[in-house]
Amino acid sequence: MIRISSLLAAVSLIFCLPAAARAQQTPPPPPAAPQAADKPCLNIVYFLGNDREPIPGYEERLSALMLHLQDFFQKEMARNGYPNRTLSLDMKTPDRVNIILYKAQGAASDYPYTGNWPRVIQELDAYFSAHPGMKKSNHTLIIMPTFYNDEYNDANPGGVPFYGVGKSCFALDYADFDIKHLGARTPQGRLLTKWYGGLAHELGHGLNLPHNHQTTSDGAKLGTPLMGAGNYTFGSSPTYLTPASCAILNVCEVFAGDTSTEFYKTPAPKLDAISISLKGNKLVINGSYTGQEKASAVNIYVQDPPYQVNADYDSVSFTQKLGKKSGNFSFHIPRRELHGLRSDTFRITVRLLTSSGNWEDWHHEFHWSDLPPFSQKFSEQ
Ligand code: ZN
Repeated sequence: MIRISSLLAAVSLIFCLPAAARAQQTPPPPPAAPQAADKPCLNIVYFLGNDREPIPGYEERLSALMLHLQDFFQKEMARNGYPNRTLSLDMKTPDRVNIILYKAQGAASDYPYTGNWPRVIQELDAYFSAHPGMKKSNHTLIIMPTFYNDEYNDANPGGVPFYGVGKSCFALDYADFDIKHLGARTPQGRLLTKWYGGLAHELGHGLNLPHNHQTTSDGAKLGTPLMGAGNYTFGSSPTYLTPASCAILNVCEVFAGDTSTEFYKTPAPKLDAISISLKGNKLVINGSYTGQEKASAVNIYVQDPPYQVNADYDSVSFTQKLGKKSGNFSFHIPRRELHGLRSDTFRITVRLLTSSGNWEDWHHEFHWSDLPPFSQKFSEQ
């Protein structure tokens, strides 16, 4: 049994390079979702080496891509029972997102894919300390132009960081990073799904989302979860947010729409007791919890070993809304919903989410072939 809090998870590095995918139709860019002026918004930084200039049209191109992504989040949140919830963007004009153009201390080559991301974070921390009005939330998307060298260029973008680190995430820009190519059956269209799907997926990590896999029935109806292999499919074949991902986004600072809540300060609810058993072909999970403020939801993740970040794409997720400071939850999970899991050994994670965004995980490993009723009470509570 292991407990991992959101504070520990904040230092996890999540690498997940996207791959090329098929293409289909191009939707028009949607209008920006309405929002209050003082609502926490995603910080978007265009991070330039001191020897570089932005790639032409970056503001217009990235604004259209971010607005389309905002629309995706809004539709998926509404479909999962969270109407009027979406990613808040800092709008400069109705169709332009405010992008902070940051000129770095070092040359572009000083910030490669591996090894120097802490320097990026440190420089931006110093920038936000000196310009506190520019920091709109704890969540930051950092976009760097592709390297231009023997290996990387506009036709083969790369070389720069591309992953999630706590509440920050990295993506990249290149000349054809433009929504007009979305779904096109062209080299530019395939490249866009790779890097736009990648941006959407890494942004998900920067918005507190772990990897997760589709249930059997949702996969048949809805396609691929963005936080599964959705970076391979976004914009080219059906891609969706799981109910568990939406439960986390519902209490993400830049989705919540609540200017009075102080996010990520109050500790997550704690499990008081848990019991797990196999009844027929159903996994039955009952638990009770207590927190300092209203618990928002409980997520369950079931996965095969290994369990570490980036080996967790197989983690099938489930969720229930809570809404009380203390209470109970009960899941009956049919084994047929776990069709992607093959191992006899598996792990259950219970993630309790508080209404101001923190979470705490409880894990335990089991064996399908030997699963006597399990129960545990937590005396420290
Ligand atoms: Zn990932």
